[in-house]
Amino acid sequence: AKDEGGGAHREFEPALHANAEERRLLENSLRHALARDEFVLHYQPVVDATTEEVVSFEALIRWNSPEHGFVSPAKFIPLAEDTRLIVPIGTWVMERACLEAAENWPEHVRVNVNVSPEQLLETDFVASVVRALSQSGLNAKRLEIEVTESIFLRDASIAREALERCMALGCSIALDDFGTGYSSLGYLRRLKFSTIKVDRSFVQGAAQQSPESLAIIRAVVAMADSLGMTTTAEGVENDEEAQMIRELGCTKIQGYHFGRPMPASDVLDVMARQTGS
Ligand code: C2E
Ligand code: CA
Ligand code: CA
Ligand code: CA
Repeated sequence: AKDEGGGAHREFEPALHANAEERRLLENSLRHALARDEFVLHYQPVVDATTEEVVSFEALIRWNSPEHGFVSPAKFIPLAEDTRLIVPIGTWVMERACLEAAENWPEHVRVNVNVSPEQLLETDFVASVVRALSQSGLNAKRLEIEVTESIFLRDASIAREALERCMALGCSIALDDFGTGYSSLGYLRRLKFSTIKVDRSFVQGAAQQSPESLAIIRAVVAMADSLGMTTTAEGVENDEEAQMIRELGCTKIQGYHFGRPMPASDVLDVMARQTGS
């Protein structure tokens, strides 16, 4: 820093340095994590709200770092986005998830893959999706790409065009964490999402009888219905919440009540139990 001689800023520096140092160490490890094979995907079931049948699994990345132990994606994904490491990591996630679904899951079960804005802005994003589909042999109709409203904050037309090309391949697009961030209903006009994922904070609010949360979920469901989109309620943790969400008319439910994110091998057990084999 230019202030090395000391002065007014000095007393704040230890904390700042600790933070920057932690970040630097994490980034260093993250840089090698792919090559060192430190990532795995876990999968969380998404069920039909009425039948409770599993219709999809969302792929969620896990990082077990030899230096830092288990690091939450809520921590390292933003860092990966800042450093653009999300591009190769995201490609790996896409390929791994498509392969797992194509090789081991029943055909009616889809896979949801989270994609960051930085990935969409890469010129070869669509090509990387095409590659993941053809390498795995996964039918594009079984792939749902999850994006958040943040894709519309900058270079919106590039992101939208990339997603439209994915839709032309047969993939569907889900709008994740709906209602958080810079929500604007205008976004729903700009792209034909197949699913709106209602953020867990609304489900939590509704469970605590918050009239606002209940009204918002009702409105989102009505709006999605009339736009020909489905809704997934996120973060449903118990039977009471599941019941409430069902009454509110959400199409699909995801949350600990129906299954936590699990290793790929457990997915096979869940599916085997479901088909009764
Ligand atoms: P998200 O896409 O909103 O994923 C849902 C998060 O909610 C997951 O956290 C999941 O474990 C958690 N969750 C699911 N059901 C419940 C519940 O009933 N209660 C509670 N308290 N939590 C529940 P996770 O796996 O820690 O991931 C955090 C975020 O990291 C994700 O939020 C997503 O934004 C990002 N992420 C995870 N994997 C990837 C990835 O492969 N690529 C990208 N770009 N982002 C990812
Ligand atoms: Ca998601
Ligand atoms: Ca979400
Ligand atoms: Ca999220």
